[in-house]
Amino acid sequence: MTDLFSKFDPLIETREQLLSTGLTDPFGLVMEEVVSPTVAICSGRKTILLGTYNYMGMTFDPEVIAAGKKALDEFGSGTTGSRVLNGTYVGHKAVEDALKDFYAMDHAMVFSTGYQANLGIISTLAGKDDYIILDIDSHASIYDGCALGNAQIVPFRHNDVDALEKRLKRLPPEAGKLVVLEGVYSMLGDIAPLKEMVAISKAHGAMVLVDEAHSMGFIGDNGRGVAEAQGVIDDIDFIIGTFSKSVGTVGGFCVSNHPKFEILRLVCRPYVFTASLPPSVVATAATSIRKLMHGKAKRDHLWQNSKKLHAGLKALGFKLGTETPQSAIIAVILPDLERGAAMWEALLHEGLYVNLARPPATPGNMTLLRCSLCAEHSSEQVNEILGMFEAAGRRTGVIG
Ligand code: PMP
Repeated sequence: MTDLFSKFDPLIETREQLLSTGLTDPFGLVMEEVVSPTVAICSGRKTILLGTYNYMGMTFDPEVIAAGKKALDEFGSGTTGSRVLNGTYVGHKAVEDALKDFYAMDHAMVFSTGYQANLGIISTLAGKDDYIILDIDSHASIYDGCALGNAQIVPFRHNDVDALEKRLKRLPPEAGKLVVLEGVYSMLGDIAPLKEMVAISKAHGAMVLVDEAHSMGFIGDNGRGVAEAQGVIDDIDFIIGTFSKSVGTVGGFCVSNHPKFEILRLVCRPYVFTASLPPSVVATAATSIRKLMHGKAKRDHLWQNSKKLHAGLKALGFKLGTETPQSAIIAVILPDLERGAAMWEALLHEGLYVNLARPPATPGNMTLLRCSLCAEHSSEQVNEILGMFEAAGRRTGVIG
């Protein structure tokens, strides 16, 4: 018998080596209590959260919580069914209406996660003989959506407008083409040049899908994302998003103005062959999305936090993923996994949680400490965070 686990041996060894030094497992942290969107208790210690993607801090919003409790009481704990059978409740229609209003678009389709939204929409839209042209640093759910479908995959260099154009030029003019982009790339926190990329895609007859998972609620005058901020939202064919970041719960979606969009509900397998979201979840999502439509003050504060953290870390001598802050993600680049893990643990001892990211999830084999800011972080908390980075950085020798 061939042990099917033997392919994981190199990873098991790396992991065992790292943990044999006495290091806390960076992928096994437990939140013992969650006090607020920015504070939790981990290993009995008060910990500031700087790695949760809870950008707008909606998880503890009293109206959001009340809506969830009410739906739980009135509709029960789950739907036990697919959206196309017994799993569409008034709450599912209400959250789709909230999304249509939020984006000012004609159609909205809600999935059980953002991962499934990418999986479903990409694999269903682009079939045999079609082409998917995608940024090489695309999220795993985009790659998995490609793998589930039968289209030809054409990757291009990250955020490189010329590379995208070159790829498009080489494809048969009559073939179906879907260009897949992200508003904010979550590893380095950089944004896409959507304006140029959308123009080029359209000039070559391609449809465009943009994953705005990390920009919804925050970027753009109405929080509709990078496409809104760059003035091209009307040229985007499909926007993918998630409820697991700014919205503060779980779920995924696609919004579109395409007149035939609704047919996807019958042919998209990751929509049809899975149970729909619980009523309490869609109720919290709908309430949160409607509140995010009036979130300007929070958006402004989040930008201030992002700028302050970026400038502070840079002044301390850390190497960052972007020259200037472009989103609510600030990535600190570490020289290797050992020092990355040591710095991650030192920060945890200081009372700060950030995300440790390592290859293959990261571009260019980088080890990153990813910080995602929240609109509920106070300015004082950002000062505290900078103090923690300074202490941990000096202790581990990452900064001089
Ligand atoms: N797209 C992007 C760009 C993401 O970063 C993520 C999650 N990290 C997803 C999609 C999937 O979202 P969800 O958590 O709702 O599955």
